[in-house]
Amino acid sequence: MKQDLQLYNTITRKKELFKPLNAPHVGMYVCGPTVYSDVHLGNCRTFISFDLIFRYLKYSGYKVRYVRNITDAGHLEGDRDEGDDKFAKRAKLEQLEPMEIVQKYTLGFHDVMRVFNTLPPSIEPTATGHVIEQIEMIKKIIDNGYAYEVDGTIYFDVEKYSQKYNYTILTNRNLEDMLANTRELGGQDDKHGRLDFALWIKAKPETLMQWTSPWGMGFPGWHIECSAMSAKYLGQEFDIHGGGMDLAATHHTNEIAQSEACSHHQPAKYWMHTNMLTVNGTRMSKSAGNGFLPGELFTGNHPLLRKGYSPMTVKFFMLQAHYRSTLDFSNDALDASEKGFRRLMNAVSLLPKLVASEKGEVEIDPLRVNCENAMNDDFNSPVVIAELFEAARIVNTVYDGTLKISTAELDKLRTLMHDFIFEVFGLKDEETSNTELNEVLDMVIALRKDAKENKDYATSDMIRVGLQNIGIQLKDSKDGTTWSKS
Ligand code: AMP
Ligand code: ZN
Repeated sequence: MKQDLQLYNTITRKKELFKPLNAPHVGMYVCGPTVYSDVHLGNCRTFISFDLIFRYLKYSGYKVRYVRNITDAGHLEGDRDEGDDKFAKRAKLEQLEPMEIVQKYTLGFHDVMRVFNTLPPSIEPTATGHVIEQIEMIKKIIDNGYAYEVDGTIYFDVEKYSQKYNYTILTNRNLEDMLANTRELGGQDDKHGRLDFALWIKAKPETLMQWTSPWGMGFPGWHIECSAMSAKYLGQEFDIHGGGMDLAATHHTNEIAQSEACSHHQPAKYWMHTNMLTVNGTRMSKSAGNGFLPGELFTGNHPLLRKGYSPMTVKFFMLQAHYRSTLDFSNDALDASEKGFRRLMNAVSLLPKLVASEKGEVEIDPLRVNCENAMNDDFNSPVVIAELFEAARIVNTVYDGTLKISTAELDKLRTLMHDFIFEVFGLKDEETSNTELNEVLDMVIALRKDAKENKDYATSDMIRVGLQNIGIQLKDSKDGTTWSKS
């Protein structure tokens, strides 16, 4: 177990030593997608960041129960209980049942997560599957005096809650200012206070998804699902709660309030937030219309794109930024990531071909220590990538014979690269996993060998130069010909 993992806690606004409540077990809850439309690349960044955290906790020896929900009901267009139901609106638009919408976009989300080679969470609960738990929780909040009913809708009483608890614990904002800012919204006369939010919303006769409750037919508010499901699967107090930074001010603030009002416990010890993927400095979002779909990026079929980029290039691009920094999308940055990722994969493909010497000139332990120190420093993946490039440099210099490595150090180099590139980062080698390309190149290399043996140098050169032009480099040695991407 790596005892010295420091992670940034949004609640304390500083890095803290990670001490799980019940080591080696770790409970981690991450707010999942709202499955009324395709996930965009910004959403993917958040889930890829938490996949990195999940993977590194496992690498460190923890037994992680990772719960990531699917929001499949109760999400209105506005954050504050106004606007249309996103699922109902989409269902009408696509002329489908709401649950057909949910199924369609859940499957699409899973496909995207698989393409990015992220690990599935341990539990993936849905809001619609936990309406009973949400109703039970609302009943407790009412019994404890922190919620009230207005004509079949239940509101959380923020003012009452904030007399005992800190409603702005995540954001450090001034409650008075917040009240002043929300004053403009108006039209919410049912609520006693302007910051109050709905736990349960009364259904209209035409509401497509509605359930029976002690307060009549209705549906749960968005925030209550995560409080109910995290408590059900991780307990009233668990280790890590995460999501994108945009969720901190409302959704997570309200989650904390609900859990404290229900069970008097702050639900999570560490709150972690990933920063936003931006396009020309503006947050990527569905509503801003700048939300790239992963498929558009892979094919290059988007007006802002010069060409397509492979899923692992895109993932590598994301890992090159720290999860708490904003990451701005650009063709140039993706081009650089494509080159960097290829350089790393090239080194990986050379690893089996490296030959150890009796006496080596290089030690690998410091590299592993640097990688672990970087990850222990709030999951600093860009620093790990710099160390992996150093590992790649060692591979290349051993391969070209300018550096000697002992058998023991060569073993360490291979496991280091394997552990961090594949296990912790969850990257995969798209070239070598492409068996068809391998087979075709084996055939082309065999044809070139025949041509050379027949002294048909025009053909053998044509093959070599032709491959070079499409970025494939042939290397001849006494053991035969190998290829790599240049
Ligand atoms: P949603 O499906 O809108 O509920 O979002 C799913 C997750 O993606 C949430 O954790 C959001 O905070 C996160 N998210 C949304 N937009 C972005 C973005 N541009 N960059 C990073 N994460 C985002
Ligand atoms: Zn949530």
